[in-house]
Amino acid sequence: MPARVDSNDSIAGIDRIDRIDILGIPFDSRTRASAADAAMELISAPGADVPFIVTPNPEIVRLAGKNPRLREAVLAAALVLPDGVGITLAARILGRPLAERTPGIDVAELVLERLAKIGGSVYLLGAKPGVAERAGARLCEKYSGLILAGARDGYFTDDAAVIADINAASPELLLVCLGSPKQELWAYDNRAALKTRLMACLGGSLDVFAGDVRRAPPVFRRLGLEWLYRLAREPRRIFRMAALPLFMLTVLREKIAPRGGGKKEARE
Ligand code: UDP
Repeated sequence: MPARVDSNDSIAGIDRIDRIDILGIPFDSRTRASAADAAMELISAPGADVPFIVTPNPEIVRLAGKNPRLREAVLAAALVLPDGVGITLAARILGRPLAERTPGIDVAELVLERLAKIGGSVYLLGAKPGVAERAGARLCEKYSGLILAGARDGYFTDDAAVIADINAASPELLLVCLGSPKQELWAYDNRAALKTRLMACLGGSLDVFAGDVRRAPPVFRRLGLEWLYRLAREPRRIFRMAALPLFMLTVLREKIAPRGGGKKEARE
């Protein structure tokens, strides 16, 4: 059985009351609405280091097992939200189901909606040139009141110039959409230098917000088959998805012979 961490632990002021360990990564068990609540709490409580949200899928969990810096970055996140049906399935197999699957893009939409209501601002970082600007225009149209503090593509080499641009805009929310593991490492490495309230690492979300990539139809999402839809549209993803069966095998091994001998373990 995976470790469950019930404690008063708090990161950046929010309680992480129900975390479930899956292969060494403590996932926050929350509904999408509760994840958005926590994000808004983070935005309203400034701290020294900028808190950040990560949404690992099975590929990232496996990578974090092999890459200590990525693991360190994920463990430093204020919220670790389960993205991908592989994670929720693993949690069920291991006997501790998560509240629900919380795809980063869904939580981000809820946060943007709430941010718009208080006239908050967002900076969009990532994707190919022009995409972030178009994503910003569409988001501002959808969420009236939202301020686009800035937008920049994700193919930069000069970190300092990007950080200076973001700091000049000083947005409430910064979406870091550079793909994994680049975005998690970038957020982690620059969290002390950035002037923003919260970062969210969101992979290919700007392509979706810009209207360049379509999300799976609702029926696929409901059944947890968004990955199948993406695979059908982008067959080259098959190599990345090879991580899924290996991840499930590791989960089954953990179920049969838990590393901690089935004992409860606090990870931090
Ligand atoms: N990307 C980027 N900079 C890079 C590499 C990738 O901005 O150096 C962007 C890429 O254009 C895409 C996103 O990061 O918009 C990654 O999308 P993908 O669908 O691969 O991410 P996932 O959501 O699967 O992690």
